Amino acid sequence: MSKDMRTFGYLCPKCGKMVMGTRSVFALAAADAEIACECGESVLHTRYDGQHYIVTVPCGICGETHTATCPPERVLEGATALGCADTKQFCCYIGDEGVVEKNLRELSILVQKEQQQKDSEEQEAFLDNVIMYEVLSELKDIAARPDGISCACGCKDYGMTIRRSAVDLECKGCGAKLRINAATDRDLDDLCCHMKLVIPGT
Ligand SMILES: [Zn+2]
Ligand SMILES: [Zn+2]
Ligand SMILES: [Zn+2]
Repeated sequence: MSKDMRTFGYLCPKCGKMVMGTRSVFALAAADAEIACECGESVLHTRYDGQHYIVTVPCGICGETHTATCPPERVLEGATALGCADTKQFCCYIGDEGVVEKNLRELSILVQKEQQQKDSEEQEAFLDNVIMYEVLSELKDIAARPDGISCACGCKDYGMTIRRSAVDLECKGCGAKLRINAATDRDLDDLCCHMKLVIPGT
């Protein structure tokens, strides 16, 4: 490939794909350039104002759009990267096709890993899975006893909401609530010393 050709690469914030496009130095000086993702949801834009290149790049890291003003030599020679204003990571590469592709591939793997980590943290529904499991099974035992769970208002119908570190029992008659913490060993001990639970009625 001629050294008069420049490749731009970024990660599409919408679909996550690597987007690359190559333009000649001549074309970049003559007119605005646009390099769009095939999903049609994001586009990198360059404009030459006679002194600087203004590069607008959709950021695959933070999802925003960043604008960088670069002197011509930065865009037209060697290899460079534009940073994400939010995360300070590079989100756009400019240079030879091979260099851009290599860097973009690494960025893509990084972003995917971070996404996976985020997803798995969100799936970690409980503060302590073991304690929550024990609390729920203890609650089941209590509920199985005659009048095991009731409300001070006299109602015996209740709902149960499981939260990250607690279980809420709510009386269906009066709406009163009893929170059972489910975060520590102590919470479990507290619960185990109850034969019955009474929701304090309103
Ligand atoms: Zn896309
Ligand atoms: Zn960003
Ligand atoms: Zn009640």
